[in-house]
Amino acid sequence: MFGGDDVEITPGMQHYIDRNNEYLARRDQYIRDVVKKWKFDTIAVHGLYSVQDAIDDYQGAIIEPIFMSASQAYRDSDEMAAALAYLIPTWCYSRIANPSTYYYEWTLALLEGYGFDGGTSCCSTSSGMAAVMTAVQPFLVHKRHHAHEPRNFLATAQCYGGTFQQFNVRLAQERDIECRWIQDPTNVDEWAARIDENTRFLYGELPSNPQQGFFDIAAVADLAHSHNLPLIVDATVATPALLRPICHGADIVVQSATKSLTTSGFGVCGAVIARHDIVTNIDVEDMKRDFALYIKYLPNRDYGPNLHPMQAIMTLNDMRTLRSKMDLLSRNTMRVAQHLAHHPQIEAVQYLGLPDHPLHALASKYMWLVDAEQDDLYRRPVNRYGHLMSFRVKGGPEAARKFFDGLQRIWRATDLGRIKSVATIPAISTHQQQGEYGRCLANVPPDMVRLCVGAEHPDDTIADLEQALARLKTKASLGAPARVS
Ligand SMILES: *Cc1c(COP(=O)(O)O)cnc(C)c1O
Repeated sequence: MFGGDDVEITPGMQHYIDRNNEYLARRDQYIRDVVKKWKFDTIAVHGLYSVQDAIDDYQGAIIEPIFMSASQAYRDSDEMAAALAYLIPTWCYSRIANPSTYYYEWTLALLEGYGFDGGTSCCSTSSGMAAVMTAVQPFLVHKRHHAHEPRNFLATAQCYGGTFQQFNVRLAQERDIECRWIQDPTNVDEWAARIDENTRFLYGELPSNPQQGFFDIAAVADLAHSHNLPLIVDATVATPALLRPICHGADIVVQSATKSLTTSGFGVCGAVIARHDIVTNIDVEDMKRDFALYIKYLPNRDYGPNLHPMQAIMTLNDMRTLRSKMDLLSRNTMRVAQHLAHHPQIEAVQYLGLPDHPLHALASKYMWLVDAEQDDLYRRPVNRYGHLMSFRVKGGPEAARKFFDGLQRIWRATDLGRIKSVATIPAISTHQQQGEYGRCLANVPPDMVRLCVGAEHPDDTIADLEQALARLKTKASLGAPARVS
């Protein structure tokens, strides 16, 4: 497993290997017989950190300990040799692994794999962008060992600005790897027409930030697999509480865990979650079998985009209430979207939850509040669409900025996924670097306001939007915003 093939195994090393194999067998059984039978909320609260773990190893601490240690000490040279050859699952050095990130990774692997029959695993990363990079790089290696080998991949043009730059500048311009943008990802024929023998993967973001793009995951996954290619999905905006792409055929999911997974806003982090036995035309057995563990142990060991243990536990702590938070935040957003949809000063509202949104029916096929049938409040499946929406203010970019500057309680920030409502104008922030052409391709007009609705009472959020809109009608709008009383 992951190298170590040419390592000579001493009897002392074998002792550690046997002991760890017993531990792994116990862990797998615990996952299979106990954790996989839990509901989503229970997994989110506990993950793999058990009472037994706590008592045996962590002095009974009920919260996962934060291991602020760069490295791990070994009992003797046999244990060290076995560990560094990856023959036993110890953590050695925090760039490679760490007990705190371990619990974070397992919780995410189990949440993304909730309802999926096969195995899933997760590799934590220092940010969402590091997750995107980590997820795509292993597919871009030279297969034929010559420098001018043509390589391409397909990606939805409606995607996060940072992803657009990574693909368009870092990969396409700097490394000559062609990025084929998909304009209408709901059209499976458009995807199909762009695949050829040099294609390495299909990549899609949904719902997309900020435009609420969407596509038929199962259909695109089937297409990818029929060409022996993986489908990679950025499902940051949905979170596993509303959408788990692996259950619909995707091979790999990337998360900017910075966003709704860390609702508190306590820092930046990411994750790559993959099913076992992914589909790919890259012939590396370890990578196919367990992609997330492969990138964790090999490429990321060498590149170093690892997550800090402190951040891992901060995010893990936020994730425990993910389902109920995504429910509340989605309901609040629906209220705000409905209010703005009928507003005389608003041009267009983009929210997948609105019945007249062109992608509403498609999104409704995929976006469900997990375990709503088991929830006393609902007792039936319910659609939820997350807390990201966007809209255009009548009067063009100038009016949009005036409105934006008039917001009093809603924060002006390039951020989303917060417990607090946050708004931005993507054309001057998240999607500024990609220029006019890129924004046009991604459908980000200059007067678009992106709003991520928080957990405040929706009446108060609506009141703030209303007073900012009212400023557009009066001269008072020219002054600085008044202080909130
Ligand atoms: C923010 C974001 C990213 C990048 O994540 P960071 O944690 O900021 O690096 C990627 N995809 C989507 C959809 C995002 O919203």
